[in-house]
Amino acid sequence: MIKKCLIANRGEIAVRIISTCKKMGIRTVVAYSLSDKESLAVSLADESVCIGPQSASLSYLNLDHLCEAALLTHCDAIIPGYGFHSENAEFAKMVEECGLIFVGPNQKVLKLIQHKNSLKEIVRSLSIPVIDGTQKVIDSDEDLLNCATELGYPLMLKPVTGGGGRGIHIINDTKQLLEDAQRCKSQGFTGLYLEKYIPNSRHIEVQILADKHQNVIHLSSRNCTLQVNYQKFLEEAPFATIHPLLHRKIIQYALSIAKHIECDNIATIEFLIDEHDDVFFMEINPRIQVEHPLSEMISGIDIVEQQILAAANEPLSIQQADIDFNGYAIECRINAQDPKKSFLPSVGIISSIRWPSLKHCRIDTAIIEGQPISIYYDSLIAKVIVWGKTREQALLSISEALNQIEIKRISTNLDFLRYIIKQEGFIKGNYTSDLFNIAYPLWLTQQDEKNSHENQDRLICSKCKQTLTIKQRYDHQNVCEYCGYHLKISASQRIADLIDDETFIEIDAHATSINHDDFPGYSEKLISAKTLTGMNEAVVCGFGKINDITVCIGVLDSSFMMGSMGHVVGDKITRLIETAMDMGVPLIIISASGGARMQEGIISLMQMAKTAAALHRFDKASGLYISILTHPTTGGVTASFAMLGDVLISEPNALIGFAGRRVIEKTIKESLPEEFQSAEYLLEHGFLDMIVDRRHLKQVLTDCLKLHRRDKYE
Ligand SMILES: [Zn+2]
Repeated sequence: MIKKCLIANRGEIAVRIISTCKKMGIRTVVAYSLSDKESLAVSLADESVCIGPQSASLSYLNLDHLCEAALLTHCDAIIPGYGFHSENAEFAKMVEECGLIFVGPNQKVLKLIQHKNSLKEIVRSLSIPVIDGTQKVIDSDEDLLNCATELGYPLMLKPVTGGGGRGIHIINDTKQLLEDAQRCKSQGFTGLYLEKYIPNSRHIEVQILADKHQNVIHLSSRNCTLQVNYQKFLEEAPFATIHPLLHRKIIQYALSIAKHIECDNIATIEFLIDEHDDVFFMEINPRIQVEHPLSEMISGIDIVEQQILAAANEPLSIQQADIDFNGYAIECRINAQDPKKSFLPSVGIISSIRWPSLKHCRIDTAIIEGQPISIYYDSLIAKVIVWGKTREQALLSISEALNQIEIKRISTNLDFLRYIIKQEGFIKGNYTSDLFNIAYPLWLTQQDEKNSHENQDRLICSKCKQTLTIKQRYDHQNVCEYCGYHLKISASQRIADLIDDETFIEIDAHATSINHDDFPGYSEKLISAKTLTGMNEAVVCGFGKINDITVCIGVLDSSFMMGSMGHVVGDKITRLIETAMDMGVPLIIISASGGARMQEGIISLMQMAKTAAALHRFDKASGLYISILTHPTTGGVTASFAMLGDVLISEPNALIGFAGRRVIEKTIKESLPEEFQSAEYLLEHGFLDMIVDRRHLKQVLTDCLKLHRRDKYE
């Protein structure tokens, strides 16, 4: 029996192996790279040996170092885990040449599995369907095209040097085939081959236990249909939603393949099921799988223990009939990835983790709080596995488990997992690979909406940087309650703030500008302004009541276009003034704008004269005009109607001026005072009558209007 074992791996699988070794009384030595010196596996193992720097190729993939480490520490076996060299016949050979036990199938089996094409031939000879593909690698474009025609589209283009889904392309036509083959080569992938692509497929795998005494049994199936970039992320066992006869057939296929190749240790045999329930052999993984805990949960058998026993030449102590499969298990892989960026790996330090506390919930992880997630290795943070008596119970448990998990300061796929387990297809269980393709875009849209809601929900005051919630902004009419800063608000918000409810009637609502002179880009600019603001032009005009006093009111909105004074705004303001005159009511205009609309040339400049003339007529008719200047009011607007009010009011800190500081300083060749265009400076110099906090504006306007009521004096 094995007494001391070198673990040639890292992360959660190293920790997983240590726990079984401890149970079996086997001493453990963890081989670690420099960046894993402080890892959980190192702290749990009896001994540890540094085998090289961070880069996997110099440490976990360095066969000489691994064998030396095992010999130096007097181990009698090496257990490879998954990934790295776990399936490498060459490694198994080296280990044996060192007089050590390789914990896995023998070299002959590994070599056979490595030669995918000869393996397929063997499987075919057992009358088990295999996915059609090219017999050997093809490098010339001509051969690629010929093979593709022979096989028929859609196809998968796979590089021999890929692995883990890298470099795989789904091909629908000739053009794409040549392009993607070129892309593969330019990315350094070599040895291309083609395989029939099975759309809407289901991925089923069978866990095999075998020994060196010709015993082969199975631990039922796992459903690994859900994958991102050919990486599994959510698996369940058994595959319960296919017909029991189909399930039995697949188990039989797996057993006969394992027996035929004389597999003498654990292995997983993978198949695809197409839309017509036809089954195709895919590949064999002669090692422990990431998702092995699922089979352990439903069978009660420790697979790592069986792997070690078989390697140590022990005959299987379990008969197929002894195994009492019980219940359902679901596994989620929590990865350090950014699902918003196509699941790209994310790096960083996890500041805190909270794992679920639930019955029948297993967490396989090696993560310690404060530990960095390195770019050097895979992005698996943890596996969460739950068990339920029924699939429904397992579904409830996984949902609860995912909800209880909290991982801080690194982006993970957790939120996407929470989303996909709630999809109808997943709940029903009869999903295909398409479930991901459907759910992912939906999830992305939901994230966008969530973000925009969150952004609307909270806003940072640009002056004092305090966070303002919707309620705070509502309560204070969009004035920062900490520093009094007046946030920018829309024309419709201003009308809602000032005009009595349900009394506002808009006029000329449909008037909208057109590009008279075919000014380049103006038509597009108008369309985008209209779509973004939902307005037809940069001013809203109409009449309504302020504390029961009827007024005509126009409000400019600078978010439409800073250069507001086009022919339509000029017309609307003029018609508003005339309406006020006809109705015999006061006029209020709230300005916020940059002035001339250059795209309309001289027509724009004429609006200044037109509005000013209308105001002159209004004045002659003894109309009251209150002009309210808000941030920013400049250019042609200041130079015409905005400065012509009988009463000039401004909001605090508003920028009011004609030209900008730089232009004025250049023209008059003098430097200007610091605050010269602020409302406060203008008030001090007699340009304004008062500065009014937005929260008091309605009251001030009411007082003003009452003071000037004609009927009071008539
Ligand atoms: Zn503030």
